[in-house]
Amino acid sequence: MRILRAEAMGLCFGVRDALDLAAEQTRPADVTIHGELVHNETVLERLSQRGFRFAPEARREQVPETDAVFVTAHGISDRARERLVRHGKQLIDSTCPLVRRAHGTAKQLSDDGYFVIVIGKPGHVEVRGLIGDLQRYDVVPSVERVAHYAHPRLGVVCQTTTPETTAAEILARIRALNPDAEVRFIDTICEPTRQRVHAVEELVQTADVIIVVGGVNSNNTAQLARMSRERGVDAHHVQGPDDLDPAWFDPADVVGLTAGTSTLDETIDAVEDALRQLSRAGRAR
Ligand code: SF4
Repeated sequence: MRILRAEAMGLCFGVRDALDLAAEQTRPADVTIHGELVHNETVLERLSQRGFRFAPEARREQVPETDAVFVTAHGISDRARERLVRHGKQLIDSTCPLVRRAHGTAKQLSDDGYFVIVIGKPGHVEVRGLIGDLQRYDVVPSVERVAHYAHPRLGVVCQTTTPETTAAEILARIRALNPDAEVRFIDTICEPTRQRVHAVEELVQTADVIIVVGGVNSNNTAQLARMSRERGVDAHHVQGPDDLDPAWFDPADVVGLTAGTSTLDETIDAVEDALRQLSRAGRAR
């Protein structure tokens, strides 16, 4: 059994920088992490052991007790930011620059008189930040949810982790259902997402089965697994080596390996080691 690693996978620079910023904090007990810093249980457990406090996604509307609040790479709206500052909180801001760019783009479209449509997952923390400063908007996760809008100018942006094909299909449907509207699309998909998706498109050419490593709540990890299946290659989403089932590889000549943007290198390496052991065990039978 040959193991083929995706050309691009795992931690993106935005999450890496956020983790580095968290590591630099000298008084973690005085810092509340505003939402899930990464969708990765191992990392969250380590931060908790260092003493960081957490405000779960569902309680982000409440003002944390600590003096400092850590804004995650997913970002928050200006409105949420101002509210925290008004309550005297010091912000430690790890918002990814590519999320900032998406915020700026949506705001500019809104200021220019467009009704903003965000292609993305409703309720996702990044999307909540994106729409938090907009007056009129819709969030569209799939082609089926595209509507006709009673507005002559539609400005379309994407959650940064949207696969290009999903964005293209939804955009085409928006244009089809709103033939009289001016539709302006500004592509805010981030480059690391694009690279990881392209790498999976390469993997499906060769692999018999694909293992996607990532946290159970990681949207982009689930997307990579879904994409593989849609292209006809069986895919399994695992959090670590213990989740691997030998039955998945019987028979499999080539196993593809990829990972979401919040997966640590060490977790990917541990899964790869376990796959190699399974391969050796298979040869020994
Ligand atoms: S997935 Fe893209 S936008 Fe999100 S943190 Fe990573 S690099 Fe930034």
